Amino acid sequence: MFIDSHCHLDRVDLSPYNNEMGDYLAASKADSLDHMLCVSINWEDYPAMRDLVQPHAAISFSLGVHPNEVDGHDPSSEELIQLAIQDKVVAIGETGLDYFRLGSDAEIDMQQQRFRQHIRAGIETNKPIIIHTRDAKDDTIRIMQEEGADRAGGVLHCFTEDWEMAKKALDLGFYISFSGIVTFKNAKQVQEVAKQVPQDRFLIETDSPYLAPVPMRGKPNYPNYVKYVAEALSGLRGMSTQQVAEISGQNYERLFNR
Ligand SMILES: [Zn+2]
Ligand SMILES: [Zn+2]
Repeated sequence: MFIDSHCHLDRVDLSPYNNEMGDYLAASKADSLDHMLCVSINWEDYPAMRDLVQPHAAISFSLGVHPNEVDGHDPSSEELIQLAIQDKVVAIGETGLDYFRLGSDAEIDMQQQRFRQHIRAGIETNKPIIIHTRDAKDDTIRIMQEEGADRAGGVLHCFTEDWEMAKKALDLGFYISFSGIVTFKNAKQVQEVAKQVPQDRFLIETDSPYLAPVPMRGKPNYPNYVKYVAEALSGLRGMSTQQVAEISGQNYERLFNR
């Protein structure tokens, strides 16, 4: 049984499933998909996302605002804390730093302030933090250290950076999550990291509807494709796909169901 630790089900195309989440979940059972974590991207879309997934025991959800969101409401840590507790979310995020798609220098400051607010909310609510980081290695680790993010713990999701950064995050007690990128032929750096992350610290995810893994690359992505991520990790780590599913599932439970 597989757990997709990071997806955006409110953005996934359910039209092949009569636009019904229940129909999709029933169909995904054929791929042994057991559970998924639906991750919030902005404040405005959060209520509809929550209402879409909340009726389904197979889906957990988080609350947070993605670093690349520029137009919507920027919640304070107090606002995040209040809503996270009220809705019993399992995690805070996704949050973090993404300098790859940066529009202006002012955005760097905005992203860093937002990241700090989210870390504080994670610590205050004792909920793990889902961190998105791209082209911002040093600032991500520095802010995690300055804010004491190790007190909440969490995951660096869709990891694409090098082992040096993975090691620093692991030293802060964080988990590393691998997406479909690990199935891409040219993704040597992240494949090296996937070989080295300790057994009790890796997760698997799809980040669907984005980043479909090989052999679905270029097509819309779905949480049940997490099996392809598990297959790739099994080759890299020298264990069966079944073992990858079991161990990543145990890691998921330890991190998010506390
Ligand atoms: Zn992300
Ligand atoms: Zn995401």
